[in-house]
Amino acid sequence: MNIYPEFISYGRQSIDEDDIQAVVETLRSPLLTQGPKVIEFEQAVADYVGAKYAVAFCNGTAALHGACYAAGIGQGDEVITTPLTFAASANCVRYVGGTVVFADIDERTYNIDPQEIRKSITSRTKAIIPVDFTGQPVDMDVIMDIAKEHNLIVIEDGAHSLGAEYKGKKVGSLADMTMFSFHPVKPVTTAEGGVIVTDSEEYYKRLLRFRSHGIEATDYATTQGSWYYEMTDLGYNYRMTDLQAALGLSQLKKLDCFLERRREIATIYTKELSKITGVRVPEQLEGTTSGWHLYMIQHERANRKQVFDAMRVANIGVHVHYIPVYWHPYYQQLGYRRGLCPVAEHWYEKAMTLPLHQALSTTQINYILDNLKNNI
Ligand SMILES: *Cc1c(COP(=O)(O)O)cnc(C)c1O
Repeated sequence: MNIYPEFISYGRQSIDEDDIQAVVETLRSPLLTQGPKVIEFEQAVADYVGAKYAVAFCNGTAALHGACYAAGIGQGDEVITTPLTFAASANCVRYVGGTVVFADIDERTYNIDPQEIRKSITSRTKAIIPVDFTGQPVDMDVIMDIAKEHNLIVIEDGAHSLGAEYKGKKVGSLADMTMFSFHPVKPVTTAEGGVIVTDSEEYYKRLLRFRSHGIEATDYATTQGSWYYEMTDLGYNYRMTDLQAALGLSQLKKLDCFLERRREIATIYTKELSKITGVRVPEQLEGTTSGWHLYMIQHERANRKQVFDAMRVANIGVHVHYIPVYWHPYYQQLGYRRGLCPVAEHWYEKAMTLPLHQALSTTQINYILDNLKNNI
């Protein structure tokens, strides 16, 4: 078989002329940051997902940091999350001094298992950070019930799931706070960027303060003079620029189209890969519509490294998401040990990500499928 001439990456952005125009217009405008575009973008994201408030950040990790701050997580607090995620879902807890507790996954959906969340709760548990891994929403009704029962805050990591639905509702309208990322491999992009959506005015105000040095406008301004402001807490400069927001506004218009194509490709993959013995295709929780950020297969018997290397030689950007977070040296040094979440660890050893994004052509999809069939 001829090798495909370009590297087919597992995920990538789609930028059109109108995206470029949107950024150029903002470049010509008086304000490159703290202008009107960020506010417009926040409103558009909030409207799209059905949340009251949105606060944009310079990236998704900063947004998660903000959410942990807004939730009041600190030293001595435990926060439960999944080991099968990008490290940022756990790192944000460490930024504010909290302790990460990893709960195992459900091997069918790859998402955190609500029963494992239940088992991990102690008197110190303060919050849960469920991750909609691969774009498939977690079982939010069950998770919100557990949270209510134990008075916990739920921060959903929706980095993969912008536009995904759970029982007819968009992700972003379900948890106390939800984070979306706009990194170029994510559903839509602002180059770097992130957002927290919430219905809570209190969280909203704390997020705004945290994003901009811990500074807020105060009533004193009326007596002191209009230059006056106060820094009331130690915040950061985590702001998104108007250039990013302009790109985000333009990208958001295409999100539904992108998602439609991602779902089409996932359907083709599932149909074709189900025919190969030994290949396990991703199962979907009833009542959910995935955003299909990632398409991941498992094979119990194949030598993953061999298959992976053969695919890479063929210019196919297969990947593996993710190394269990607590396997990383940083978490090992904190005392987490291998074997903590056996289901996730077993899953990780067998899993492989296939390329999936809106710009994949039918030729590329067939090429990927043919190569997989030949190599597995
Ligand atoms: C991408 C990602 C993040 C972090 O987002 P950035 O915008 O890259 O900082 C967090 N969690 C998950 C699951 C992600 O995939």
